[in-house]
Amino acid sequence: MPATNPRKKIKEMEVMVAEAIPEAHDTVTLVLFTGNDKLDYQPGHFLTISPHQFPGLQRWVAYFEDLKGKKEPPRAYSMSSSPDEKYLAFTVKEERYVSGVTPYPPLLSPILAKRTLPGAMMVITGFTGPYRLTDEVRSRYGEIVHVCAGSGVVPSFSIIKHDLRMNEKSKHTLVFSNKVMEDVMFFRQLRELEQQFPGRLRVIHTLTRETQNVFSDQVRQGRVSHTLLQEAITNPEDTVAFVCGPDHSVWQRKAAKESGEALPPSFLSSVLQGLEQVGLQKDQIVKESYG
Ligand SMILES: Cc1cc2nc3c(=O)[nH]c(=O)nc-3n(C[C@H](O)[C@H](O)[C@H](O)COP(=O)(O)OP(=O)(O)OC[C@H]3O[C@@H](n4cnc5c(N)ncnc54)[C@H](O)[C@@H]3O)c2cc1C
Repeated sequence: MPATNPRKKIKEMEVMVAEAIPEAHDTVTLVLFTGNDKLDYQPGHFLTISPHQFPGLQRWVAYFEDLKGKKEPPRAYSMSSSPDEKYLAFTVKEERYVSGVTPYPPLLSPILAKRTLPGAMMVITGFTGPYRLTDEVRSRYGEIVHVCAGSGVVPSFSIIKHDLRMNEKSKHTLVFSNKVMEDVMFFRQLRELEQQFPGRLRVIHTLTRETQNVFSDQVRQGRVSHTLLQEAITNPEDTVAFVCGPDHSVWQRKAAKESGEALPPSFLSSVLQGLEQVGLQKDQIVKESYG
């Protein structure tokens, strides 16, 4: 059989926003009408959106391109819908400008998360990405563990709900890290999935900066620790781990190199180290970085 070129499947589509569903104080799911386009995507895939297409952003795009000395690239967003659902959807968390910390205000996520209403048109390009639960991986491992932070949960959310519905035997554990409770996206949907698929999904939230007493067996305090990973991974030989969340950006690495200062470990690097300590090999880990 001739090999198929995966890039041929990537195409541009003009879509209309059907719904903008708030998921957390800074996060929105945009549900899309795609007309008759065939939605050839898999759970874990992402689409891309060019900031150049939005008239309201044109002066910012031009200004940032002058400042940064290069073209603003398209931004990637993982699908939060899954292919068995009627509509295509992605979920955007608004990035923040932190004075003295972030060099530039974020360009695209604020308008997608806060200023995009039903009826808005946009061009998306998709679908692609290596963060996928393939048949080969599923047949090799009995346990699937996801360790995610913030919007890094989006592709795992799609994988989890699709796999629970499609494969009777699959078992997933999600360790989901956020700063505070109000940051947590898909809290209700994950709870409902746990109830709908008893014994097949376990969700452990962990909050690094929460000051209210919201803690329980399901909601832990602190970072993703070695102990928490040990609790989630009871049988390392039979486990595949999906890890998605922030890593150091290329600019942070460059700045650290120039200043000679060591960067504190990122979410991604500390989780990868933790998984290694728990006994997982590199080929048992699928990772995606949002940094
Ligand atoms: C595969 C993949 C999937 C993703 N999926 C999702 C998702 O499902 N949901 C989601 O919310 N996000 C997702 N993201 C992140 C998303 O693509 C964007 O990076 C995010 O929305 C921020 O975009 P922005 O335009 O708002 O910010 P940007 O303008 O990209 O800025 C982000 C940060 O980078 C800094 N920065 C930008 N340019 C420079 C520069 N030249 N030099 C130094 N610093 C710079 C800014 O100061 C700011 O702190 C994903 C990323 C990847 C790679």
